[in-house]
Amino acid sequence: MLENLTAQPADKILALMAKFKTDPRSDKIDLGVGVYKDASGTTPVMRAVKEAERRILADQSTKAYTGLAGDPAFGAAMRDLVLADSVPTERVAAVATPGGTGAIRQALELIKLAAPKATIWLSNPTWPNHPSIVKYLGMPMAEYRYFDQVTRGVDFAGMLTDLETVAAGDVVLLHGCCHNPTGANLTYDQMSQVIGIMQKKGAVPLVDIAYQGFGDGLEKDAQITRLIARSFENCLIAASCSKNFGVYRERTGILMAVAKDPDQQALTQQTLAFLNRQNYSFPPDHGARVVTTILTDPDLRADWEDELEETRKTMLVLRQQLADELKRLTNSDRFDFLADHRGMFSRLGTTPELVEKLREDHGIYMVGDSRMNIAGLNAETVPILAKAIVSAGI
Ligand code: PMP
Repeated sequence: MLENLTAQPADKILALMAKFKTDPRSDKIDLGVGVYKDASGTTPVMRAVKEAERRILADQSTKAYTGLAGDPAFGAAMRDLVLADSVPTERVAAVATPGGTGAIRQALELIKLAAPKATIWLSNPTWPNHPSIVKYLGMPMAEYRYFDQVTRGVDFAGMLTDLETVAAGDVVLLHGCCHNPTGANLTYDQMSQVIGIMQKKGAVPLVDIAYQGFGDGLEKDAQITRLIARSFENCLIAASCSKNFGVYRERTGILMAVAKDPDQQALTQQTLAFLNRQNYSFPPDHGARVVTTILTDPDLRADWEDELEETRKTMLVLRQQLADELKRLTNSDRFDFLADHRGMFSRLGTTPELVEKLREDHGIYMVGDSRMNIAGLNAETVPILAKAIVSAGI
């Protein structure tokens, strides 16, 4: 049987990680995989997470199954964090999932049941796992323009033009904040225009929010998601806790589906529980319990918010330092976009050949599309990267 297998496409980011590991150069710089790293290059367990885990270890009296949708307290805490009061609780169905990836997968499976012919529209570019999963599920897929290769901002005119061709019932995947891989984001007003077109066309939004708190702050980063939630009868929201709680390996995420009324919510909730049952039965609980413990305890929550703010500001400072250093070296403002981008990533906007040159000549690793993980930098490596960018002729 197994002899019939053919090799699947390798995940480029994970392959790059493996390459970095075997590079013997001691001054190599890893700007590849999307994991937050502090100045010393470690991905810390957040203080509030440690404390929540200590409490869970001391107090937890059973490891019996939760529910198919996960712990309802997690659902309520995440609904508040992401959606606040943008839509009435009775309209929101939710299931805990293994990470944000699990939430996206379940969202697509839900769409497959409800609207099997719907085309899934993805930004060009987007996180590579989006098209990979859509393709794997055999769903129709299309792209809308997103990145302006010249300004390194959003190609807003191109995006609007492409969204004008969306058919009724199609699903448009939008990043809630901190677009991956570009770092370029729509303003609130631009998103209002996108919403206007989608409403006119009868399209349904699927929001992927994986970096709430990494861009402009916890509340601001949720504004676009909340605006979308309140603007449509139906909308799907896949949220990840991997980055903002630093619980990557615990696989913690949630899929929320906004229904038009409580009856539709009940049917959707039942369907989501069914989908969890088919795919993995009960979702992982530990990370979700940690997140719930933090979000519902005022002291832990305040400490988590403080640490998340420190993280966010660290990345903003690095962005500014890199933009300033490149301004100094090139005597131009053509790299100012780095300071305008938000989140963990920026797309430099150069060719795969020059990305390879940076790797070969300078030991600087970034994804082939020139996505850099800003958190992979520190005060010492910023000038090294800037110099390498200039000497590579980017
Ligand atoms: N969406 C986007 C845009 C992401 O960048 C990521 C993480 N790389 C995810 C979803 C999912 O993350 P996870 O499954 O680790 O929670």
